Amino acid sequence: MPPPVPPGGIALLVVDVQHDFLDGSLAVPGARAIVPNLVRIIQEGDWDLVVATQDFHPPNHISFAERHGVAPFQLHDVPHPFWESKSTVSQMMWPVHCVQGTQGAEIDDAITAALDERLAWGTPVRYVQKGQDPHT
Ligand SMILES: [Zn+2]
Repeated sequence: MPPPVPPGGIALLVVDVQHDFLDGSLAVPGARAIVPNLVRIIQEGDWDLVVATQDFHPPNHISFAERHGVAPFQLHDVPHPFWESKSTVSQMMWPVHCVQGTQGAEIDDAITAALDERLAWGTPVRYVQKGQDPHT
């Protein structure tokens, strides 16, 4: 059981520092360069809670351009995820990225080590995996 989260504390959010966004299929130019600074922030901050998010898609995710036979980085109408009567919703098409069980979906090793270190020091660390519904 992880330690409880203190009410009114200060939280650090570490958002999607994953291989596919650093050097993979949806890499952000220059993103790799900020990892050492993030590690230092995780290690040295006076955090009461650290939350790390992870884009975590099934292989057939609705946002993957190849699923629809279209090019990435454009809007495409897809079935509405909640109301069939509303028919469609416009969705940005992305290259396949952050697929569950792949290296691309994993959080960077240095970030993971820093998070593990924080947890060992007694800071609550939580992971939030998102994008798991293939239709949303
Ligand atoms: Zn995604």
